[in-house]
Amino acid sequence: MIEKKFALHIHTNYSDGNATHQELIAIAARANLDGIITTDHNIWINGLDGYYGDKKQRTMLMVGEEVNDRQLNPPGNHMLVFGAEKEMSPFGADPQKLIDQINRAGGLSFLAHPIEDSLERFKEQAYPWHNWDIDQYTGIELWNQMSEFKSVSQSLASALINALFPKRMSLGPLERTLTLWDHLIAEHKRPIVAVGGVDAHQILKKFGPVTIKLYPYLHHFKSVRTHILAEKSFSGNFIEDKKLIMEALRRGHCFVAYDLPHPTDGFRFSVDTEEGHFIMGDRITVSGGLTFQIRLPRSNLCRLFKDGKIVKEWADREVCTHLTTEKGTYRVEAYIPYKGKLRGWIFSNPIYAWD
Ligand SMILES: [Zn+2]
Ligand SMILES: [Zn+2]
Repeated sequence: MIEKKFALHIHTNYSDGNATHQELIAIAARANLDGIITTDHNIWINGLDGYYGDKKQRTMLMVGEEVNDRQLNPPGNHMLVFGAEKEMSPFGADPQKLIDQINRAGGLSFLAHPIEDSLERFKEQAYPWHNWDIDQYTGIELWNQMSEFKSVSQSLASALINALFPKRMSLGPLERTLTLWDHLIAEHKRPIVAVGGVDAHQILKKFGPVTIKLYPYLHHFKSVRTHILAEKSFSGNFIEDKKLIMEALRRGHCFVAYDLPHPTDGFRFSVDTEEGHFIMGDRITVSGGLTFQIRLPRSNLCRLFKDGKIVKEWADREVCTHLTTEKGTYRVEAYIPYKGKLRGWIFSNPIYAWD
C-alpha cells in the first residue's frame, strides 16, 4: 500500500476562499502534502487538474466541487463531488438525482458537514444535511474543521481563543457525527466511507488598517488530513495516479487524521482471515477466526469499536491485536494529548465483517 496525504474540501477565490489554485499548491507543498482537492461552491473548474512542482516535490491538484441547492431554506445539503469531471451544480436541488448523476459520471459523493451548528453570535448559519431519504452516495465528511469551529466557539471567549489560536481548537469529529456514521452504516447495510475535510477559506478580517488571516490555509493543510492508501506505486502519469487515489477513496482505503500533534503516517488497521489479508474499507466474510491488527505510529490511547461500541482499549502499545469470531462493523479511534487536552488523532474507516 502506498500512503498519500491529502487535504480535502478547500475553497479558492472562484467562490468564497482567498487564494488562487497556484497559491494553494505552493502552500500544500510547504505543508508536505501529496495533494489537495479543491471544492468551490457550485462551480467546477476544468483544466487545472494535474501535477505541479518539480521532481523533488510534486503536488497533485484535483478540482472537485461543493454542490448545494441555493434556494433551499433552511440552507444545507452541501455535497462534495470528486472526480465527476463535469459541472454538477444544475442537479443541486434534488440530492438523489445529484448522487445518481455523480455515480453515472464515475465520481464520488460525500455529504459535507452532515451535522452542523449555527454560530448565532456571529450571524453564522448552520448548513447541515436535511434530506435523509437518499442512498448510493459514497460517504460522509466525518470531520470538518470549520464546522467544528462553529460547534466549539459558542461563547465569545471560546470564539476569540479559537480564532486567535487555531492549534488549541480541534478536538475531533463531533460525537454526533460519529454516531450518525455508525447509524448510517447499520441502516444502509453497506460501507459508508469517511473522509476528513478542512473547509478552508482563509477568512480575512479587517481591523482598521490591519487585515488578519483567520484559519490560514497552511494551518488547515498541516492539521486535518485524509491519508489515502493506494493499491500500487505512482507512475508519475497524472491520469493513472488520480485513478489510484479515486479508487482508494471509493473503497474506503483511507483514514482521517489530525497530523499536527504527531504524524500519523504508517497507521494501519487490518484483519487476517482464512481468505487473506484485508484493510480498512474492505468487506469480508466471517468463516473462521478474525485477527485484527492495529499499528500506531506512536503508542497512544487506542480504541477498537464494533457496531459503534468500544470492544477493546489500549494505551501503551504501538501494535494492538484483537482475536474474535464475531461479525460486526469494526473501526478504530486513537487519541493524543496535545496543548493540554486529549484530542482526536486517528479515525479509521471500518472493516465490515458481515457475512
Ligand atoms: Zn459547505
Ligand atoms: Zn465548504
